[in-house]
Amino acid sequence: MGIIKVKDLIFEYIRRDEEGNVEGITTAVDNVSLDVSQGDFVAILGHNGSGKSTLAKHLNAILYPTEGTVWVDGKDTQKDEYIWDIRQTAGMVFQNPDNQIIGQIVEEDVGFGPENMGVPTKEIWERVDESLKAVGMYEFRHYSPNKLSGGQKQRVSIAGVIAMHPKCIILDEPTAMLDPKGRREVIRAVRALNDVERITVILITHYMEEVIYADKVFVMDQGKITLQGTPREVFSKVERLKALRLDVPQVTLLAHELRQEGFPMPEGVLTKEEFRVALDNCVNKLF
Ligand code: ADP
Ligand code: MG
Repeated sequence: MGIIKVKDLIFEYIRRDEEGNVEGITTAVDNVSLDVSQGDFVAILGHNGSGKSTLAKHLNAILYPTEGTVWVDGKDTQKDEYIWDIRQTAGMVFQNPDNQIIGQIVEEDVGFGPENMGVPTKEIWERVDESLKAVGMYEFRHYSPNKLSGGQKQRVSIAGVIAMHPKCIILDEPTAMLDPKGRREVIRAVRALNDVERITVILITHYMEEVIYADKVFVMDQGKITLQGTPREVFSKVERLKALRLDVPQVTLLAHELRQEGFPMPEGVLTKEEFRVALDNCVNKLF
């Protein structure tokens, strides 16, 4: 079994009136199964309301299945005795860093998690330093968080999670509130955690450029996983992605459109470099 396993998960939000009568039911996650191996970089895509956050909240026992089962490192999230283990194994980073940073000083903020876990003081400081280094924020350790940019704050929130030594980190649209520079910084930090520290990453986003480095991509629509595969497999389905109201990376789209015009361009072009090579080949074939 992988670090995270979701089997036949259904989750319903139930709305009740003041008397407690059921007014309506929203099936936010509708029969989802997935398996994430230790060390994987997994991306979850989908437009607003497709169920991404609801699914994410099951992965560290913030929500429990209406039906089906979720295991984190082999532990069923519905068993109360595992809840702290699970929250430590699978750390969560949310959209707005301002809601996650509580310390007055960066290093103090990053130390809160391990402190609450009862880690000895000397080790807390070691963890704080190594976590801040891992996200490239060590030079800012004595700063006040409100002096930082959005991207820097989000990297501090990530450091706060990794200081708890999770095996897996789940990021729910961590770049949604950031400018392009902040987004790049955060994604670079997340990739390094996966590449260097071998932390399993589950990245939820609607920025398609952020998922091209993922090992596997899941696309959600109306609570279901509607498309899955490597980034190249998923981005080869341009028309499908457009129908799901997802933006395809510019180079992918351009290659796709040239192909439709009859040029020998491949589908699933992911980067500018790949596009350049493909275009060179295309020109060589034609002339
Ligand atoms: P996403 O993160 O992909 O935008 P969500 O998981 O937030 O999607 O939402 C999935 C569905 O569940 C949507 O229809 C949304 O309106 C509904 N929903 C989300 N949170 C709640 C809630 N707390 N109460 C009732 N319905 C909710
Ligand atoms: Mg969401």
